[in-house]
Amino acid sequence: METRERTIFERIIAREIPADIVHETDSVIAFRDIAPQAPVHLLVVPKTAEYATVAELAAGDPELLAEVVATAQTLAESHADGHFRLVFNSGENAGQTVFHVHAHVLAGGLAEGSLA
Ligand code: 5GP
Repeated sequence: METRERTIFERIIAREIPADIVHETDSVIAFRDIAPQAPVHLLVVPKTAEYATVAELAAGDPELLAEVVATAQTLAESHADGHFRLVFNSGENAGQTVFHVHAHVLAGGLAEGSLA
């Protein structure tokens, strides 16, 4: 029997708690981050709870990772100018708080704070 505690994202996917959902397919969901760090801040989340980090997802289901990236591009085009930063926090010391893999899509006038 599954005893692992469900993450907040599983509860959003199950519609147990509300979220501002902007995109959904059979395999991926995207919604606005509750604490935005940029003018556009979306989370793209594979629906499966099998993978905690992007490296696990890449190893276990590379096609699903590709869908996450393609979704980020599509959403950056529909919500901003198509330019975006894609962030996967991996591990507690990198700031990961939800251990259900997700991509942060940050867009909307980020050039000033460029990391490059
Ligand atoms: P992490 O820190 O794990 O990379 O990212 C988790 C993100 O989920 C954070 O940016 C946080 O603001 C967001 N978040 C946490 N709880 C909720 C929630 O209940 N609803 C939404 N929409 N976002 C959430």
